[in-house]
Amino acid sequence: MIRWSLAAELLALIIIIFLMLHYYERKLAANYRRKMYRLCLWMSVLTILLNILCVHTISIASRIPLWINMALNSAYFMLAVFLCTVVSVYLATLILEHVYSRICIRRFLMMAAALNVLYLLLVLWNLKSGVLFYFDGHMSYQRGPLNSAGYVVMGIEVLMLSTCYLRNRPSVGKSVVRLIRTMPILAAALIYFQHEYPYLLINGMFAAITDMIIYISFQSSWNERDSLTGIGNRNSFFQEIALRIAGHQQFQVILVALKNFSSINQKFSYKQGDEFLYVIADRLDHILPQSRAFRFANVEFAILLPYDSEENAYDNIGKIRERFNHPWNQGKVSCNINALFTDFVYTGQEWNPAQVIEFLEYGIESAGESPEGLKRFDSSMLHHLMRRKQLIEIMQYSIEHKRFKVWYQPVYSLEDNCFSSAEALLRLKDYDGNPVSPGEFIPIAEEKGMIDNLFWIVLEEVCLLLQRTPGQIKSISINLSMQQFEDRTLLERMKQCLDKYHLTPERLKIEITERVLLQDMDYMKMMMEELTKSGICFYLDDFGTGYSNISCVLSLPFEYIKLDKSLLKGIPGDRKAELLVKSMVKTFRSMGLKIVAEGVEEKEQAEMLKEFGVSSIQGYYYGKPMPEEEFLEYILPIKGGV
Ligand code: C2E
Ligand code: MG
Ligand code: MG
Repeated sequence: MIRWSLAAELLALIIIIFLMLHYYERKLAANYRRKMYRLCLWMSVLTILLNILCVHTISIASRIPLWINMALNSAYFMLAVFLCTVVSVYLATLILEHVYSRICIRRFLMMAAALNVLYLLLVLWNLKSGVLFYFDGHMSYQRGPLNSAGYVVMGIEVLMLSTCYLRNRPSVGKSVVRLIRTMPILAAALIYFQHEYPYLLINGMFAAITDMIIYISFQSSWNERDSLTGIGNRNSFFQEIALRIAGHQQFQVILVALKNFSSINQKFSYKQGDEFLYVIADRLDHILPQSRAFRFANVEFAILLPYDSEENAYDNIGKIRERFNHPWNQGKVSCNINALFTDFVYTGQEWNPAQVIEFLEYGIESAGESPEGLKRFDSSMLHHLMRRKQLIEIMQYSIEHKRFKVWYQPVYSLEDNCFSSAEALLRLKDYDGNPVSPGEFIPIAEEKGMIDNLFWIVLEEVCLLLQRTPGQIKSISINLSMQQFEDRTLLERMKQCLDKYHLTPERLKIEITERVLLQDMDYMKMMMEELTKSGICFYLDDFGTGYSNISCVLSLPFEYIKLDKSLLKGIPGDRKAELLVKSMVKTFRSMGLKIVAEGVEEKEQAEMLKEFGVSSIQGYYYGKPMPEEEFLEYILPIKGGV
């Protein structure tokens, strides 16, 4: 009688039980991949237990009815092959995880099902023919001529997997490639072992090793999952789109950025906030067929979908937006959460994953500026983004190579009847020599943190000019961006610059607008008061554009108010505009503030503003911004009134 060795099977059982304990301890939400893996584990256990039982019943075959042994061994033969198929299907889904087309997986499933049906027929036929196994006259187990048919099924499935892999190679993740390469070696080793040691039962060990490799490669990979929400993290999103692009698959990415989420945290609690994030992530992960969500950033989620038509892509974003019109529920708590949306469609362009991420970031930033909170990334946005990148590069280059120029626009004093001051304005040219408007490059410089460098370029130039023109130019104003107030060394550095050129602080004026809202108004006030005390005074720029407001004027120590050109549009002629400007000037004057009118282009405007009591005028009527030498020549000979 054959004496089987169960040592390897028992060891395999221990390994699988250990894997199961580890798996269940994690309490992970069951997605498709995890469900499949769970099935592999349970089937492995079942197969091993059945094998052990079979060995036992074979050893007592003479004492029990034959049908028990036939039934148990037939079940084992079938189960072993079925286990092999389940593992193969699992591997096929891994190979095709980043492929939207379902053709390959459908074919694989059909072929695997056909193989299993054929094998089942073989097992049934074996009951009569004994081609797989049989019991001889001494009730001793004997191998039939087709005993190794199960290995043939396994071999065919390995071939099917290899075909799947070869057909979709660009879209297969690295860890899957590693696994696919190990599988044939493992299968060959099993067949060799079984051949060399026919009495050593090692099918279970093969299953255990496979389960273990899969676990190490995928199930335990935390680095690709977001620990709070359980969905893919930014890293895995990057890899996912890299594989989709490599496989030339068309896809749509929708980025959802939750708005004011900090107020949810404050209103409920951080823990509750986390729970809401979990609920939202889970919903977005399944919101549309074939959708997959990733945590793109703190409160930003990227949803990846297959792309087939523009119409469907538009519908998809509409459906996701629609969900945010309804409250989110978590336990007994319910709340409305607003969000911004953008999307990007990949249809085979020459983009890499880093660019896709850049487009999405830019798209969501633009969505924040649109009233509907939605901005689809299209060719015009791409153009803007490219222009912005180009400007960033030009600015960096121009700072390094001193290509920025400071121009001066004369300011005419109606009190002194002369050009007594000027505003320093930056000028930049692109590589072809075309001027770039400050209205275009200043906001980018502010955003990219280059504004500070620009300020010091202007300050140095201005101080140098003031030093050279002691009797001619009373003062020059320079523009300061709001975020520069966050620089705690600003005051000290400005003082040092004035000292370096032996200038009195009254000759330097600072213009600020409220364009970039500063949250810490108290700190700003303190800084301004300190600078004013040291003799450097402030102009409130662009008053009337909506950025500056009355409460700001009242609470901060300004010396001058600069009326924006938009206020002067209807002057003279428009009675309402005239009245408004007149009363503004009167009010500011009664508050002890002086007024500069900006953007004056006509003589009549200048005359009327003088009548209203404006102190100074800056505008094309008196002079456009010009290079230093031209400016000096321009202001010297002209003296006289309006
Ligand atoms: P701003 O400080 O309000 O500067 C006045 C702008 O109005 C200048 O535009 C000037 O050329 C324009 N302007 C003056 N008079 C007239 C006029 O009669 N008609 C018309 N249509 N326009 C007139 P520019 O030089 O294009 O500067 C735009 C803005 O860029 C400035 O507005 C300022 O906010 C910003 N900027 C310029 N240089 C700097 C700088 O060195 N630092 C900072 N932070 N901002 C700067
Ligand atoms: Mg200004
Ligand atoms: Mg202005």
